[in-house]
Amino acid sequence: MRMLEEMGIRVFVPDPHRGEPDSPPASPLREGGGAAVAAQTDSAAAASDVGAMGWSELRAAVAACQACSLCETRTQTVFGVGHPRAHWMIVGEAPGENEDRQGEPFVGAAGQLLDAMLAALGLTRHDAPPQRQVFIANTLKCRPPRNRNPEPEELRRCEPFLVRQIELVQPRLILAMGRFAVQALLRSDEPVGRLRGRVHRYHGVPLVVTYHPAYLLRNPADKARAWDDLCLAAQVAAAEDAVQAEVQRPA
Ligand code: URA
Repeated sequence: MRMLEEMGIRVFVPDPHRGEPDSPPASPLREGGGAAVAAQTDSAAAASDVGAMGWSELRAAVAACQACSLCETRTQTVFGVGHPRAHWMIVGEAPGENEDRQGEPFVGAAGQLLDAMLAALGLTRHDAPPQRQVFIANTLKCRPPRNRNPEPEELRRCEPFLVRQIELVQPRLILAMGRFAVQALLRSDEPVGRLRGRVHRYHGVPLVVTYHPAYLLRNPADKARAWDDLCLAAQVAAAEDAVQAEVQRPA
């Protein structure tokens, strides 16, 4: 925490009295529902009815996937990690070299930065209750060769897996990191810099956009903005938790 303060990064302090964020624009995906999105694609993943799968089936389907040519160059698939009913879901881009080798998302330098920022909010990818243990997933489950950008067809074919992961987790807050997560979840080509700083919705779930940690390593001046995004996300998550606690309170 002190490290963040020394970096000039404002440290999040929960404010239970703060109101909900402005009414966000609806996600373009909102109409269809996740399973419908999966069903509309003609990918091999959709053909095997990803939309009806539970966790173990889904994990096995990802591991066996040959829907695009990335299966030829991957060492292994990178499914995702974290609490199956996490309140926070973090969505990144695609596995890199370290992730391809270890089978876990965000284990390289970008992942260390992500872990540090999450830790500053009291969040972790490791064992903890669902309000503290996040779920981390990528838009692509296989590493693109030489870490090139994902191609539209790869994203399209892999999308049913992410859609199903979100349906199973039922997060209270989604943090979309970087341009490809934004494109997948909001169907927007707008730059991250234009979308961050407000709350969007993915099928009704609040979604906050922020910079990808790998970008932040190259552009440290934007770390303070990313920290603001995480603070916004934390405020939204706290508001969602308060709503849920009220709903679940015995009459
Ligand atoms: N970048 C990502 O977007 N995801 C990872 O898992 C690693 C790096």
